[in-house]
Amino acid sequence: MDLSMAVQYIKGVGPTRAEALAELGVHTLRDLLDYFPRDWQFLPAPIKIGQLRPDESVTAMGVIVATEFLPRRKQLFEVTLADDTGVCRVIWFNGGYLRNQLEPGLRLVVSGKVSLYKYTKQFTNPRFTVVRDTEEFHPEDFGGAVYPASAKISSPQIRRILRPLVAHSSEMIAEWYPPEFLRKNELIGRAEAYRQIHDPLDESHLNGARRRLKFDELFLMQLGLAVKRRHIQYDLSARPMVRSEEMNTRIRRRFPFLLTADQDAVIEEIVADMAEARPMNRLLQGDVGSGKTVVALYAALLAVANKTQVAIMAPTEILAGQHFQSIERYLHGSRVRRLLITGGITGKKRDELLGRVADGAVDIVVGTVALLQEDITFRELGLVIIDEQHKFGVRQRGKLRKLFSPHCLVMTATPIPRTLAMTAFGDLDVSVIRNAPPGRGKIITRWVQPHNRGAAWDFIRQRLRAGRQAYFVYPRIDAEEDALIKTATREFESLRRDTFRDYRVELLHGRMKSADKQRIMDRFRSGKIDVLVSTVLIEVGVDVPNATIMVIENADRFGLAQLHQLRGRIGRGANQSYCLLFAQTEDPSAVSRLEIMTRSSDGFEIAEQDLRLRGPGELFSTRQHGLPDLKLANIVDDFDLLILARKNAFELIEKDPTLTTGSHAELRSALLGKFGDRLGLVDVG
Ligand code: ADP
Ligand code: MG
Repeated sequence: MDLSMAVQYIKGVGPTRAEALAELGVHTLRDLLDYFPRDWQFLPAPIKIGQLRPDESVTAMGVIVATEFLPRRKQLFEVTLADDTGVCRVIWFNGGYLRNQLEPGLRLVVSGKVSLYKYTKQFTNPRFTVVRDTEEFHPEDFGGAVYPASAKISSPQIRRILRPLVAHSSEMIAEWYPPEFLRKNELIGRAEAYRQIHDPLDESHLNGARRRLKFDELFLMQLGLAVKRRHIQYDLSARPMVRSEEMNTRIRRRFPFLLTADQDAVIEEIVADMAEARPMNRLLQGDVGSGKTVVALYAALLAVANKTQVAIMAPTEILAGQHFQSIERYLHGSRVRRLLITGGITGKKRDELLGRVADGAVDIVVGTVALLQEDITFRELGLVIIDEQHKFGVRQRGKLRKLFSPHCLVMTATPIPRTLAMTAFGDLDVSVIRNAPPGRGKIITRWVQPHNRGAAWDFIRQRLRAGRQAYFVYPRIDAEEDALIKTATREFESLRRDTFRDYRVELLHGRMKSADKQRIMDRFRSGKIDVLVSTVLIEVGVDVPNATIMVIENADRFGLAQLHQLRGRIGRGANQSYCLLFAQTEDPSAVSRLEIMTRSSDGFEIAEQDLRLRGPGELFSTRQHGLPDLKLANIVDDFDLLILARKNAFELIEKDPTLTTGSHAELRSALLGKFGDRLGLVDVG
């Protein structure tokens, strides 16, 4: 059967139901088969009436020997049911409607809890079905799949359409894998899985079906990632970079400290990648302050030593400026030619700078992602470093790849749970810096309730007197939408005039001019500002070791990832740091977030908790990242299956990169069907 056939032509559908199904997103036979139940009801197999015990939930079958309707007693409808072992009573309140359905001589199946009433076993308001012919009775006729339905089409109607259809599933659904593969991975056949998910024999068959179909979803997703990765590894070429002992020594001399074991390990991974004639495609993860910039600079200097250029791209101008400044610090007196391109540089000046990049007169260019994707050309771009902070920018990477094929290092300060690393970033190699450089003060995190505000102010003033600096962060600038949210602007005034009137308080927000922001950041960095009030709209991504206090107002409004990210601004020097979360809330999930923050400072733990609290759907939409949506599988709950699917998908693409040999045609068309050209798969094979 043709899976693209319109549902209207399926037996039992017709134009009216086709319309109702269309509203549920079901247009074709394929859609219908993929319209999975949201639940299943299993009823126990019938037992003899003589075996009924009070308080047990069971199914029984018998012949109706008598019926009675008692309109005065709550419209009670009463049936006496008998089999060869005994008699029981079945009652329905408000059962008048049953008078036309149930009459003596009919065979009836009932399911529910048994009670004892006047020495007789009794079912009260049970589920029931009339059986026309005993031979044809199947328990699953009684329970079965429950579909998401609508006012125009009910779940039983959908079930009645699908059930006869999936009885012939093997004529419609092709197998994707060879028999050995199914055996090895304990998977049932694909056609069988479709039959069992819509019309399961019992719970264990249903579980087998769900496992198989979840596996298929995950397998297809991983196959897409494997193809994408393979494309980068084999179809693109890059300049292999050599590293001599002399280069290594020269680069390390730039850092006024010994690199940590984690930094060294990651550098070795990067150097090995860059030695290849295909582009590196690596994600570097590590909390804020873990020392990623140093690793990135090592890679950059290696590329420069190999006579190629480097582009360093940050998400905002402020961050680009900071990267540039820290590079300047490390490269002081070096012959490496570096350049910061900002949006403020325009006209002739800009043309001149871009010209220098094109001529190869600049080694390292720093700018924002947008800036560097615009109109810039390089003489020979060897390495691109992208600092994503806490954004997942799969798309941006794709864009860059099309322009050139340099080695590519993506840095992120958001610890990515393993599940996401295997999905959103599934085509990347991943390096992790777990341990921050030594000599860091610890961060104490406290949830401050309104009645403790005064004490908190005293404490902060005391730290400021000792010469430390503080960040105050507010959710947004204007409160028009929500009077509860303290506005940074208004609070700033009261902090400056009142709470911290003896200190230098300044405001920073996203609507300020770039130059003004820069000036304030510089003043904060050099200690001329004690308290920096800002909105989160602004990246306060500065490295100011003397800033040891972070106050987050309305902390219950922030997500875990953001709270953790903000907290990363402190704890950068040797002094003890304090993160004060101001919040008044009883919302359970906000309370959990605040508690997790006070308990843990491990970014990976926080990320896992975040994923658990919010669910993968909200934290990250697969569709947004060019991956197919998952209907059955859930990357958190089905993590083991995800790993199994990933391993097999990557192995398959190693063996048959274009999926063109013998039995893989089905998979290939399924892959194209799911991804379309979103991952550039159309040009595969
Ligand atoms: P990230 O980019 O991960 O936020 P950075 O590379 O900016 O982290 O490093 C944070 C701070 O730690 C910087 O001040 C840097 O000079 C310092 N640092 C980095 N690596 C080391 C190290 N191995 N030993 C001591 N300090 C280090
Ligand atoms: Mg950094």
